[in-house]
Amino acid sequence: MEKAAQEVLEEIRAGKETVWINPAQQVVNEREKVGKYGFIHMKAAQTRLMRFMPYFEKYFPETAQRKGIIESDLKRISNVQNRLKGQGVSVEGTVYLKADHELPIAGSVKARGGIHAVLRYAEALALEQGLIEPTETREHMAAPKVRELFGTHTIQVATTGNLGISVGTVAARLGFRVIVHMSKDASEWKKQLLRKKGVIVKEYGTDYSQAIVRGREEAAQDPNSYFIDDEDSLDLFMGYATAAMRLKVQLYKAGIEVDEQHPLFVYLPCGVGGAPGGITFGLKQMFGEAVHCFFVEPTQAPCMLLGMLKNEKASVLEEGLSGVTIADGLAVQRPSMLVKEMMDPLLAGEYTVSDGHLLEYMKMIHAQEGIFLEPSACAGLQGLIGLHQTKAGQDYLKEKKIDPANVTHIIWATGGGLVPEEERQRLLKKTV
Ligand SMILES: *Cc1c(COP(=O)(O)O)cnc(C)c1O
Repeated sequence: MEKAAQEVLEEIRAGKETVWINPAQQVVNEREKVGKYGFIHMKAAQTRLMRFMPYFEKYFPETAQRKGIIESDLKRISNVQNRLKGQGVSVEGTVYLKADHELPIAGSVKARGGIHAVLRYAEALALEQGLIEPTETREHMAAPKVRELFGTHTIQVATTGNLGISVGTVAARLGFRVIVHMSKDASEWKKQLLRKKGVIVKEYGTDYSQAIVRGREEAAQDPNSYFIDDEDSLDLFMGYATAAMRLKVQLYKAGIEVDEQHPLFVYLPCGVGGAPGGITFGLKQMFGEAVHCFFVEPTQAPCMLLGMLKNEKASVLEEGLSGVTIADGLAVQRPSMLVKEMMDPLLAGEYTVSDGHLLEYMKMIHAQEGIFLEPSACAGLQGLIGLHQTKAGQDYLKEKKIDPANVTHIIWATGGGLVPEEERQRLLKKTV
């Protein structure tokens, strides 16, 4: 391990916030393949979601405003930017929030990936039985014969909460039997919400990486069970990636210029890696060298950063960390290696963030913009601040010859839309 990486590893072990610039990042242009995967894989996911537009418009009325496409707004957050400047962080360029906490159905970034994975499996089953045609739109997915078929199959998933809501809600509505394996981090209201929808919730006193193992094992024993594997699912990954295709249109419509001199800097909260990894892959497909993606992980659960540094499916527990964080969506002990390998050439770098800072950012975004985000969803702000306040961040800009005034920053707000009012009040009062 080179010296810089060794220093980062020491800071991780000490539980300190740190920053890491990826020395293996490569020049990857628009529509350039990454390993086996390229634009067509993301496009296939996008086309699948589009086939289902009439289904969603009818059975999930909250998607009707966008005609059955599950998408969120891009919002300018100048008040946060000004507030940061007031605190001495001279944030240049313009700052936006990608409001995925508002994504319909799931209230989190998990909507695109989780729902896409369910739809792919549902389509494959119905096609196999000759109940639907390959290219027609999918309003027939609610037909009694199709529902009857789905009723004989089980979809299973392990989750810290949000993936369960995304997968569980849509799979149950389609008529599947659904089992959600919950790690100890999952909050009570998420379990209740799923049970109300007829989902079987199994609770484990274990951490997330163990809940995945349990779920995988249980699903393997039932030939009519399909396990959506958060550590290893291309369907999740490509579903997440579609966000980039929509974002390109949103930026264009907002008149925001994006090229190498006017780059996008995107800050993504990272758990197992699927959501931020899929989005990063998608953004590179759409913008190539004009986009720079940074992950942010909690100081006690930086599994992807460890994976990148050690080049293995490392566990944060083995480095003496607790794996416990207020950011329940990011409380993950081991990274997805599928994602880790795809990120080796694509990722610009990583920041880690303390629980104390996450709560501070949550309160700031609420006070300044009137937007409630769950703690995990505020992690992106650490990247924005870190870029301006760390030597590593400033060196990155210099090395890439980027004028900070020309940068469009996107804080990816990944969840919080479904958090009940009482829970919001509790979190907004919380201190570490
Ligand atoms: C799941 C989740 C993430 C991270 O996604 P991964 O695929 O686990 O990396 C970030 N924020 C929230 C709110 C989440 O629920």
